[in-house]
Amino acid sequence: MNQTLDNIVSLAKQCQCGHHHYDISIEQIVVSHEAFNQLAAYLRYKQYKKVVVVADNRTFTAAGRSLCDKLKNESVLYTVCLIQSDENEDVIADERAIMQVLLETPNDVDAFIAVGAGTVHDITRFSSYKMKVPFISVPTAPSVDGFTSMGAPLIIRGVKKTIQAQAPIAVFADTDVLCQAPKAMIAAGFGDMVAKYTSLADWQFAHWMANEPYCPLVYQLTIQSLNACVDHMEDIAAGNEKGIHVLMDALLQSGIAMLLMGQSYSASGAEHHLSHYWEMEFLRQNKRQVLHGAKVGVSTPIIVEHYQRVFWPLLSELKQCPKSMDETIWERLKIYTDSIQELLESLPSPERIRAMVEKVGGAVAPQQLGIDPLLVERSLKEAHRLRLNRFTMLYCLNECMLMEG
Ligand SMILES: [Zn+2]
Ligand SMILES: [Zn+2]
Repeated sequence: MNQTLDNIVSLAKQCQCGHHHYDISIEQIVVSHEAFNQLAAYLRYKQYKKVVVVADNRTFTAAGRSLCDKLKNESVLYTVCLIQSDENEDVIADERAIMQVLLETPNDVDAFIAVGAGTVHDITRFSSYKMKVPFISVPTAPSVDGFTSMGAPLIIRGVKKTIQAQAPIAVFADTDVLCQAPKAMIAAGFGDMVAKYTSLADWQFAHWMANEPYCPLVYQLTIQSLNACVDHMEDIAAGNEKGIHVLMDALLQSGIAMLLMGQSYSASGAEHHLSHYWEMEFLRQNKRQVLHGAKVGVSTPIIVEHYQRVFWPLLSELKQCPKSMDETIWERLKIYTDSIQELLESLPSPERIRAMVEKVGGAVAPQQLGIDPLLVERSLKEAHRLRLNRFTMLYCLNECMLMEG
């Protein structure tokens, strides 16, 4: 990471923002060629003798098998749980996958090791938490910033819910494995970082409008990660070791920043709500899922466009408090009008963001992901309802400025 874990913990201790910062329960984060050796050393140190390796077919081939060889050499007993894919060939974090893990896990296991991308992590995060056993993260692709999170987004009876579970106790990411990850997953990771342009703007806005807790340190850690990715765009696009290292570090650092705050405001704004809305529509239609980072890579420039072309002009023309708007919100909008303008002007243009995502090999138009323009239009009106307690600019626009009466 840009900052070491110890450094972040000590910065958080000295932070003057006035908000409580949560303890980071992650003991070690390693991103290197030597990650699996260090994982073996960590298991020795923890005296873990029996582990369950959770993977899917692809991630087992990519990393699970060589990890298991290592475990054998270390005389660590292990069982492997290969999550079955569904009828669309997708591995889904749903009740079936969780049940499979629980059924295949011996009762006396010391720890779980999640070997995979976001979905395998979420299945393991929840299953291990329910069994009151820690889990260790082995990311196989730099695809998402959720490896270190506490929450597990699960699909239960066809509906997506984020359920509080646990963060990993350690992360061991092997750079050779990460560099072999499919290009689409690397592009998705970059998309999840680009999303921080709008998530950070929405967070700042929510702080002004609704007194949402805000911390300059968490802001700094997140923007620093984003900027590192933009500065190394060429390397990430080339998929070389430097680029993959920077991207993985950025995703982990953004994840740690969320943990410090105990919520995801810094990393997830209206662009994430759009993505979740699309995902739910795909679930309803039983369509193949699209990578989370690919969706937010597309939704971020759409949100910037919407804020600059719809939200801002409407806000700057408002001369009196609309009926649907609370007086206090109105007053604050007036106080912060200049700051909001500045905030929106500080964002890169939608074209610039699309050029970045395209450079790294990601999709830039919703249609490329099978998302039709009508769904995009509907989501811009309704996606904020997925999270009504989040005072994003999209929420303000739809609930306070456009509503009648
Ligand atoms: Zn703080
Ligand atoms: Zn995300």
